[in-house]
Amino acid sequence: MPLTDSLPQTNFSFDKWVEGKKLLGKNLAELVRGYIKEEALKEKITPGLAVILVGDDAASQVYVGAKEKAAQGVGFLSRIVRLPKNAKQEEIVSHIHTFNHDSAIHGILVQLPLPPHVNEQQVLQSILPEKDADGFHFINQGKLLAGESTTLACTPAGIILMLKSLPVSLAGKHAVVVGRSNIVGKPMAQLLLSLLNMTTTICHSRTQNLQQFVSAADVLVSATGVRQIIDTTRVKEGSIVIDVGMHRVDGKLTGDLDLAPVEGRAAFYTPVPGGVGPMTIAMLLFNTFQNAVRINKQNLIA
Ligand code: NDP
Repeated sequence: MPLTDSLPQTNFSFDKWVEGKKLLGKNLAELVRGYIKEEALKEKITPGLAVILVGDDAASQVYVGAKEKAAQGVGFLSRIVRLPKNAKQEEIVSHIHTFNHDSAIHGILVQLPLPPHVNEQQVLQSILPEKDADGFHFINQGKLLAGESTTLACTPAGIILMLKSLPVSLAGKHAVVVGRSNIVGKPMAQLLLSLLNMTTTICHSRTQNLQQFVSAADVLVSATGVRQIIDTTRVKEGSIVIDVGMHRVDGKLTGDLDLAPVEGRAAFYTPVPGGVGPMTIAMLLFNTFQNAVRINKQNLIA
């Protein structure tokens, strides 16, 4: 199956989620949730999402609560395991093994970051690739590189869905991704390259003349987690600017970028909050739904 099968197979009407220049991910996420509900009914399945949270990090607790609420909102079965911050790695993996064998569960997510005594990769790789909800399993990352249908990392998948839902042709244009993490930057660049046929550049902390790349970008994705390192007064006129960053400043959620100058120059941009964040959760639900469909089909054949 081609990589494009890793996204919802429908067109989301542009005028239902874009407001002026603002790409309102929160509106598109609502459309995606509606699509998932309808498709799950058609397929006669109840997808199940299991979340493992280790420790008492305040932000992680908020994210896990939001994921649970979203899963319940689309009629999924939702299970959460909360472990203390000194939980042993074996204990975390043992819960994953239980979910791997639980036929009611189709998506398993371990909330990151894990405490420092735990080997994050060993934990993530113990999730069956078929039940990977986050697209972090090496098998799924490899399939992405090979252009095969897979479970995609949620944040880049949500951004690609937004871009694919715009009435603009991006093939052959220049995409610049700032950030090269395994969970955002790298899969983002790969998706822009393979699904949108964009000429794609990845920038990172060692990039020289970052601003020169930024100013040449038709699509700019900032995923650095560092505020205002990009001079947004110089983003390309008519470009699409995606701000992945999430920061709390004086109690308010804000992104990597100063979006005020972007408003005047860009064709479209994602606000923070209400842009990329809600799409990340919507794609987590989609991944879990898609895993359930695939597992169900395999069971019918077996
Ligand atoms: P990481 O810290 O793993 O990666 C940050 C990347 O930014 C690195 O590749 C780093 O480069 C690069 N970087 C750092 N400083 C600079 C610089 N001065 N110039 C150019 N590149 C730089 O972060 P994540 O990818 O996990 O997340 C990035 C941001 O996105 C965070 O704010 C996070 O909170 C947010 N996020 C938001 C989500 C959402 O749903 N909205 C979901 C996931 C993340 P190098 O590799 O060289 O160190």
